[in-house]
Amino acid sequence: MIIYKFGGASVKDATAIKNICQIIGKVKRPLTVVISAIGTTTNLLEELVDAYFSGNDKALELFDLLKKNHTSLIGNLFEEVPAPVYSEVNALFIELKTKISKPSSDQFNFEYDQVIGFGELLSTTIVSAYLNHIGQNNKWIDVRTCLDSDDNYVDANILWDSSKEKANAVFPDNPTALYITQGFIARDQNGFTTSLGREGSDYTAAILAHLLGADKMIIWKDVLGILNADPDYFEETTKLDLIPYQEAIELSYYGARVIHPKTIKPLQAKKIPLWVKSFIDPSQKGTLITKGEQPQPLLPNYIVKKRQLLVSLKPLNFSSIGEKDLVFIFTLVTKYRIKLNFTQNTAVSFAFCANSTARNMQDLVTELEEKYEVELSEDLELITVRHYTPATIEEIQNKHHVLVEQKNSNTAIYLTVAN
Ligand code: ASP
Ligand code: MG
Repeated sequence: MIIYKFGGASVKDATAIKNICQIIGKVKRPLTVVISAIGTTTNLLEELVDAYFSGNDKALELFDLLKKNHTSLIGNLFEEVPAPVYSEVNALFIELKTKISKPSSDQFNFEYDQVIGFGELLSTTIVSAYLNHIGQNNKWIDVRTCLDSDDNYVDANILWDSSKEKANAVFPDNPTALYITQGFIARDQNGFTTSLGREGSDYTAAILAHLLGADKMIIWKDVLGILNADPDYFEETTKLDLIPYQEAIELSYYGARVIHPKTIKPLQAKKIPLWVKSFIDPSQKGTLITKGEQPQPLLPNYIVKKRQLLVSLKPLNFSSIGEKDLVFIFTLVTKYRIKLNFTQNTAVSFAFCANSTARNMQDLVTELEEKYEVELSEDLELITVRHYTPATIEEIQNKHHVLVEQKNSNTAIYLTVAN
């Protein structure tokens, strides 16, 4: 079995969908294709959930927009739309509308997960129908029928044992099989939809690769592979041909945007090679992530996180920061599900960085203010350099206003003021 994963950009419009269907058409079976929501649909669904949860009528407007986007996509994709496509897509719209027409519970994360997966259900329904239409017979699979998870909504954990049995029953390894399924979602023991964290479709593909014992997995992107720096911020970039699993884990840990951080481990555990390739130019080789040693010479690798907020805390009672403070702070951070990108501890203060758009940040700050003097600094950036050299460090220090530097033997992190 081979596993392909296509993200939102690769299915963003009719032309993009036709392109990936060509790629799918050319490859050997059995093949399982994991697909994300179309374009930026998940962002739209997040807005919709916010509106729904707060009882705002805007939810219905956003629903209409979602419907319009998908309906016009279908119109562009098919010259003559086969009747079943409309009825399948409409069934999903009816289900979603029924959901948001009832009052929401007071559990935000639960409600989020009951709505957010419609993006993937819609995109896979459309792609599967189009593939059938062009003669690529395939089976659409509701991934929730085999991926069991706990009920940690918004960031659910897979139940590996029960999922393994189900996945092998649902995706049988027959030599002509083409399966189309959703990334990002699973189902809890009570039958409710769960989600695996934003950008979680990479992770879904890796979970399926692991459970099905796939020969390889390919993530299709709009870049030629994994680069040593983000081309949005750096003029010169180099594509990496080979990255050992461990290094890929480190890169995604520090925030490299190319792969979801949880993706590598399920693959590494079964030594399944992962390719990152371009759907724009599939003939290019891409990047291979596999077992083995880091190729020499080491190339400095830059990871930039924009729009960072630094939260600095000093105890109101003038005491120093002790272990109890750290436990208290981290408990709150976990409670509000804030992902920390950087921390710094001194005798009298503790500071952390998170994305300035992080949900619940205001609630976290309000609660911290009961015990600490809280200072916020906005518009910061975190620049991480793996395999730094004296020259790379000098360059960063010359080009940026560095507030804090943290270094270990192979990684340097700079908290800087945005230029
Ligand atoms: N559609 C989801 C998101 O945008 C999952 C994914 O794209 O991987 O976060
Ligand atoms: Mg996406």
